Amino acid sequence: MRAQNKMTKTNQLTKKLIELDKKCIWHPFTQMADWLKSQPVIIDSAEGFYLIDTEGNRYIDGVSSLWCNVHGHRVKKIDDAIKAQTDKVSHSTLLGLGQTKSIELAEKLVRITPPGLQKVFYSDSGATAVEIALKMAYQYFQNTGEKNRTKFIALESSYHGDTIGSVSVGGIKTFRSIFRPLLFEAFFVPAPHPYRFDGSKEDCAKYTLDKIEGILKTRCDQIVAVIIEPLVQGAGGIIVHPQGFLTSVRQLTKKYSVLLIADEVATGFGKTGKMFACENETVNPDIMCLGKAITAGYLPLAATLTTGQIFDAFLGPISEYKTFYHGHTYTGNALACTAALASLELFEQNRLIESLPAKIELMKQYFAKIAELPFVGEARQCGLMGAIEIVKDKSSKESFSPEQKIGSKLCSSMRPAGVMLRPLGDCVVVMPPVAIKPDLLEKLLNIILHSIENDLPKIIRDV
Ligand SMILES: *Cc1c(COP(=O)(O)O)cnc(C)c1O
Repeated sequence: MRAQNKMTKTNQLTKKLIELDKKCIWHPFTQMADWLKSQPVIIDSAEGFYLIDTEGNRYIDGVSSLWCNVHGHRVKKIDDAIKAQTDKVSHSTLLGLGQTKSIELAEKLVRITPPGLQKVFYSDSGATAVEIALKMAYQYFQNTGEKNRTKFIALESSYHGDTIGSVSVGGIKTFRSIFRPLLFEAFFVPAPHPYRFDGSKEDCAKYTLDKIEGILKTRCDQIVAVIIEPLVQGAGGIIVHPQGFLTSVRQLTKKYSVLLIADEVATGFGKTGKMFACENETVNPDIMCLGKAITAGYLPLAATLTTGQIFDAFLGPISEYKTFYHGHTYTGNALACTAALASLELFEQNRLIESLPAKIELMKQYFAKIAELPFVGEARQCGLMGAIEIVKDKSSKESFSPEQKIGSKLCSSMRPAGVMLRPLGDCVVVMPPVAIKPDLLEKLLNIILHSIENDLPKIIRDV
């Protein structure tokens, strides 16, 4: 199983592509000085749950092409639907016009999302879905005469995207500190992260809830909304919230009459075991952001859903300026909506949600074994979202220094065995496509297990 990918001598074409990439491309979230020294993998095609590079090496897509792939790659039903749509229209605007596919998808999203969400505002990335949620929530109170409400409450280590607005409510210090002077102010409360808390799991949730309530008590007439990644904080390191935390946050927002924005960009479309994370606690948010897996990883699309009550506050004569002045050129793109519709049909056809418990259980068994290994601080999991935190000292949970790049080296070491992962610092994220077959999931988990058992000690010895 180990040396599955031969990593042959880099052929001429690959060499040329790497040269051009280094010449022309600035990669996201990448220290380009490292990249320019590296020997990057260039993906050229894909098949099912495998990515294939220019050398013909195959890799299991272990993080769903950054958390968005669902049914695998080159899925006939989605491919055919997109091809057929190109024979009709690929894009026309939603500014002043309707479009068949955006209507069909909106109807479907309203049907499958939690009760109360009735209107769909489209955009094209998770960050824009969040920007829209923030502006919509703020303007809702402006339109209803509560003009002092200008502030949001968010969690430390939360991630909501990379535009200035979404970074303003983002709690990851590395991503926000440099931009601080450009950001609007928000209130941050500690993430309920039992692993980093010196008390019981229940106390951990209570600690955060008390902080939220403290802010709401003293300034509820200034607060617009609480924004939260329900159940799991993704980019913060797959921080899994204690059970019932979301419900308690919802109760607080109701008690103090502020809005709840659920950012389901990462958690949506099956990843937590239900279609949406909010369903796990039967929470109905006022606004919900969807992105990433909405098109099964095919095309950029996002959606911000909200209630009739919020929508109605934007109605009125032009002269009252209640209109929501926001929109993107590719809003509700027809090809992207077509991909999303085909994906949702596959969810039903393949009874995908029903197939998840067995795979979640399999992952749980492997994670239990992995958690016992040396240098593993914790193996966290919610549904098919998982992270293995690598630490220097298992008992004190002391971390390696970032310059040692342990997470990245560990993930690279799995490539010859045919696994592609992208870590978050020293957290090895495992987020297979929701539709992955159980035997392939087991193969993926086995390679990860053996790599942490056998390769990691060597990597650590060499740093
Ligand atoms: C990825 C992510 C975003 C941003 O989505 P983009 O499409 O990358 O802009 C927002 N919120 C959450 C929770 C995410 O995981």
